[in-house]
Amino acid sequence: MTIVIVGAGLAGLRTAQELRKLGYDGNLVLVGDEPHLPYDRPPLSKEVIRGEREDTTLEPREYFDEQRIELRLGVAATALDPAEKCVELADGSRLKYDDLVIATGLTPKRLSSLPDLGGVHVLRSRDDADAVRQDARASSHAVVIGAGFIGCELAAGFRHLGVDVTVVEPQQTPLASVLGTEVGALIGRLHVAEGVDLRTGVGVDTLRGVDRVSHVVLSDGSEIAADLVVVGIGSTPSAGWLAESGIEIGDGITADSTGRTSDPHVWAVGDVAGWSGAGKRVEHWSNVGDQVRVMAPALLGVEPGASRPVVPYFWSDQYDVKIQALGSPSPGDSVEIIEDDGRKFLAYYVGDGILTAVVGAGKAGGVMKMRAKIGQPR
Ligand code: FAD
Repeated sequence: MTIVIVGAGLAGLRTAQELRKLGYDGNLVLVGDEPHLPYDRPPLSKEVIRGEREDTTLEPREYFDEQRIELRLGVAATALDPAEKCVELADGSRLKYDDLVIATGLTPKRLSSLPDLGGVHVLRSRDDADAVRQDARASSHAVVIGAGFIGCELAAGFRHLGVDVTVVEPQQTPLASVLGTEVGALIGRLHVAEGVDLRTGVGVDTLRGVDRVSHVVLSDGSEIAADLVVVGIGSTPSAGWLAESGIEIGDGITADSTGRTSDPHVWAVGDVAGWSGAGKRVEHWSNVGDQVRVMAPALLGVEPGASRPVVPYFWSDQYDVKIQALGSPSPGDSVEIIEDDGRKFLAYYVGDGILTAVVGAGKAGGVMKMRAKIGQPR
């Protein structure tokens, strides 16, 4: 029996670990296009950018030998033939499997209309983080395009390094599409208080510069001097290599509520996977563990262990404030601001009379104590 896992990130590693934990004794092959051992991404936009942490590797190399997990790193999967149960790799080799797990994560979107200049980055990988950090050290003015989680965390990291920062966001507030504009405005307030020049309701027209970026031109005609630009406008599922496979792709790889795709021996997990029942594809760290604990037993055909009901969770660190969300906040929910001291806050989200989520900034206790109330009438 051979299980091949494509994508050597958090979801790929956690899948391998859970399969071994459940007693799977057969071959396990972990394929990753990056040259690195599986590593953690959340610190990349936080401690790594601030220069407080170098290595985010999740397990040392010996671990993979001990667990008999064969690593195929630095080589991308390029095609899948489900009828032959075979994955093709970029080096021309072919891997046969009995079951295949796809955990290929996301690819950051770029603004293809912008000229190709030095000093312009995206942030998804370890190598991206190293490149951003290196440029940030020599930078005096950074422009962050997009005020999503990564954009907001980068703005905080750059301020920590003493770099002037402008954040450009076409929506009315930061994080509007995740947390809505009411809470988004509270997060925007935090950045302004930290000296960020926050430009909302405006897009980016073009970049200027010779070889390296020197200015960002906004859609309202204004021009901002910049020696570092990071584009943080979201990501798309890394599923292009499956185009000819016949595996159903919707928003990510379509899967049932156990991770099984349109092919019974192909499974999808993590950021790339659009599981039914979840309502939408999830791009958060905790979701990976939640999914793996459901998928691995289903793949092996064993009973899942006892677990308490899953309440979705994510966090984001910005300045000295940990923003935490329990449940599934939706921009369409009505928001009750329960506490607000001008910097830290606690908000309840209510949809159709149900408490859908609790979001706090610097309010860990206030968020966590509501765990059992999520999904209950408000
Ligand atoms: P990934 O970790 O992206 O792993 C996928 C791997 O598959 C990658 O190594 C990729 O290169 C590889 N791959 C892609 N295509 C192929 C192919 N064809 N062949 C072989 N390999 C391939 N979540 C939170 O909840 N809180 C946070 O604070 C937070 N901060 C984050 C900060 C950053 C900078 C980023 C990028 C993400 C952050 N997240 C955070 C999200 C969290 O890290 C992800 O949810 C998690 O990494 C998802 O794991 P994954 O294994 O599905 O994808």
